[in-house]
Amino acid sequence: MEMRSKEFKERSVFAIHDATLQQAMGRAHYGFVGKRALQVAELPEFEQLREEAKNVKNHILDNLDHYLERYEQAVTAAGGHVHWARDGEEARRIILDICKRVDAKVVTKGKSMVSEEIDLNEALLENGMEVVETDLGEYIIQLAHEPPSHIIAPAVHKTKEQVSDLFEAAHGGPRKTEVPELVDEARRVLRDKYFKADVGITGGNFLVAETGSSIIVTNEGNGDLTQTLARVHIVTSGIERVVPTLDDATLFLRLLARSATGQETESYTTLSTGPRRADDLDGPEEYHVVLVDNGRSRMLGGRFREMLRCIRCGACMNHCPVYGSVGGHAYGWVYPGPMGSVLTPLIKGLDAAYDLPNACTLNGRCQSVCPVKIPLPELLRELRHLQHQQQIGPAMQRRGLKAWRWLATRPRLYHAAEQVAVRVLSGLAKQGRIRRLPLAEGWTDVRDLPAPAGRTFLELWQGKRGQK
Ligand code: SF4
Repeated sequence: MEMRSKEFKERSVFAIHDATLQQAMGRAHYGFVGKRALQVAELPEFEQLREEAKNVKNHILDNLDHYLERYEQAVTAAGGHVHWARDGEEARRIILDICKRVDAKVVTKGKSMVSEEIDLNEALLENGMEVVETDLGEYIIQLAHEPPSHIIAPAVHKTKEQVSDLFEAAHGGPRKTEVPELVDEARRVLRDKYFKADVGITGGNFLVAETGSSIIVTNEGNGDLTQTLARVHIVTSGIERVVPTLDDATLFLRLLARSATGQETESYTTLSTGPRRADDLDGPEEYHVVLVDNGRSRMLGGRFREMLRCIRCGACMNHCPVYGSVGGHAYGWVYPGPMGSVLTPLIKGLDAAYDLPNACTLNGRCQSVCPVKIPLPELLRELRHLQHQQQIGPAMQRRGLKAWRWLATRPRLYHAAEQVAVRVLSGLAKQGRIRRLPLAEGWTDVRDLPAPAGRTFLELWQGKRGQK
């Protein structure tokens, strides 16, 4: 996927003025938030589960090498193969080699954000394979030639009418307009692909070290068909998705669906352990797991380690006012919203994604709903700090921050400057509002600035307490 995070501001303006996008986003956004709240209210131990999940994840990260080795041994014992990929290029090469060796013509795919991260579809298509996304949302955006805009609802930005148009263009008429009809049509088209597929690629929500199993959760059952009907099953996953035991996986599963879609549990939770055994009725002949690092080891050894607790539920973006306003495509790469604003600069570089950490309002909602308690606002602040230290970003802004720091560390001078500023601003106002303000055009170009009261906050507060 082409990296376009540098265009965040332009893409945000475009998104805010896109009435169709706003309509689609509004509906989905509040649906997810409301359903999660209901589920959380019905599970008194939810907060306790979050704390447990955080602790288990921290333990896993402290012992990641151990659990990955145990996982590899268990997969091998079950007849599967584990491949280690340092980066996207190596992961693509490993997967391509497997596909070429088995002479794959058709490759079906369940939803996998890691495969987006490593640009897998492009590589398979360039090598003459037909790639078919089987998750309904992924299938819709594949027809639209667009990247996902949400990690669990990739086509959340599309309206029903847009999907009708896409299906009519791809499948021919008559045009379907109702959701059940559209789903039926997708099911009919995809069914044929499942049977033709040589290779089925899925992600892995969790990888269980004690059994060597990969676990995927879906609401459509597409993952099961993708992995059982093809001759070869390839799991692509980040190295941080390993969990020690099935019991641990259960803990995360209890949090995942509730946090993601506001369901008690997803419709399908599927475990795969190795290839088909002699007495199995179905299943793949080969089972491969490609474990992708792609910057994760670097994160593990640094101050952003906590980000590796992420279980990709999407709750942070569902509750983020910035994501809710501009949608996922504005972020310009695979991972949008708060988690993406941390991950993208860490994977693609601080400079390449300068605006993302700076777009955050630091309101803290993301952290309050994250099922593994990742301190996202803190990490975003840390990224801003690094950008400042490395002199990334507008020089004018850095000089402004320097001047502000100088002033803010001299309280007397700061209060005097503040007193002058509020009085000047108050004098500039007309009917309580300021229409235009030099250096603050980002605000006043699109809205008026409310005029200050003419006295500083401290003066007002002291006045109220009768100290003046
Ligand atoms: S950062 Fe937390 S809330 Fe966001 S996707 Fe990851 S686990 Fe979910």
